[in-house]
Amino acid sequence: MNHSDLLQIAETFGSPTYVYDATKIENQYHRLVGAFSKVERLRIHYAVKALSNITILKLFKKLGAGLDTVSLQEVQLGLKAGFEPNHIIFTPNGVSMDEIEAVAALGVQINIDNLSILEQFGTKNPQIPVCIRINPHVMAGGNTNISVGHIDSKFGISIHQLPHLLRIVENTGMHINGIHMHTGSDILDIDVFLYAAEILFETAKHFKTLDFIDFGSGFKVPYKKDDIETNVEELGKKLTKRFNLFEKEYGRPLTLAFEPGKFLVSESGFFLAKVNVVKQTTSTVFAGIDSGFNHLIRPMLYGSYHHIENISNPKGKERFYSVVGYICETDTFANNRRISEIKEGDILCFKNAGAYCFSMASNYNSRFKPAEVLWYDSKAILIRERETLDDILKGQPEIQL
Ligand SMILES: *Cc1c(COP(=O)(O)O)cnc(C)c1O
Repeated sequence: MNHSDLLQIAETFGSPTYVYDATKIENQYHRLVGAFSKVERLRIHYAVKALSNITILKLFKKLGAGLDTVSLQEVQLGLKAGFEPNHIIFTPNGVSMDEIEAVAALGVQINIDNLSILEQFGTKNPQIPVCIRINPHVMAGGNTNISVGHIDSKFGISIHQLPHLLRIVENTGMHINGIHMHTGSDILDIDVFLYAAEILFETAKHFKTLDFIDFGSGFKVPYKKDDIETNVEELGKKLTKRFNLFEKEYGRPLTLAFEPGKFLVSESGFFLAKVNVVKQTTSTVFAGIDSGFNHLIRPMLYGSYHHIENISNPKGKERFYSVVGYICETDTFANNRRISEIKEGDILCFKNAGAYCFSMASNYNSRFKPAEVLWYDSKAILIRERETLDDILKGQPEIQL
């Protein structure tokens, strides 16, 4: 997919539009599986919340992945996409007992992350196998917005609560078939990750009937030119060796599971938006686009960097711009960014727009959510129509006052 393909897509489907390159998704998936090829039983559960379009889920089904879900609705989407319930893992945080029971009733693997629900669930349903989410209290990466393994994190059962956890399991007679951790969003230091894995292995020894160990995610992808990404191949080599050794020691076949979102879809995505207005002020030049944080909130929510290219004028002379949205609040995508010269009507392309972009979109300012297009077999396929006013009004009865 090159610039002219992207321009053609903007022409055909309008703007703003999200485009996903299926080949990139496939390559990332195969790269991860390849890095762990020496593990006998491997499962990659794609984290649905990163990008939940049903056609994307079907693509993962075709690749042989499972799903990682965080809500009953994501589970239902996965089932609609054709996944077997036992290829779906439900890893929520802070949801009700009712929701957990509803998901378990569908035959989906549940993962419980607090002692209160574990005790209630185990007492009522001792026969349903449960995975437990452990918080090893290891910081992976330095950004506390996205690290969830530290001591005050709301995620997981603290490793320090292991004695209480074991007592609950014994008292209820429940069956623990997996243990899980998800330490945060950035594995940059493989040794830090392996250290957390060691804690998980130590914990695993306390449970005699495990079928799998789930190492969560945290794979970092490059957003900027010189960004370091997780060295998946090195992680594969080192963790495989350790995992296979542990499996032997444990004396029971174990599946190694991961649940990446960003790694699989981030770089596949391109967000195309049109420049409505170029506005010179005393301090900068603004390029105002036909979108805002209603469609792509990551830069405003956690300061994420998305590379922006003017694909209408890729060879133009570079100038400095502040790229902003049309929302009636501050919504700055990029400050003082070098971009090839922008004219009104140009199409800007945001990179790394696959993960946590469309899935976080809203209707703020009563704007329609963008269209989504999959680039598959060198063809552009519309996988979600742009919304219309009917979508905005849906569910609002016509009330006469
Ligand atoms: C969000 C989430 C993931 C995926 O994280 P990425 O950083 O997108 O890879 C995996 N597991 C759980 C439990 C999650 O909540």
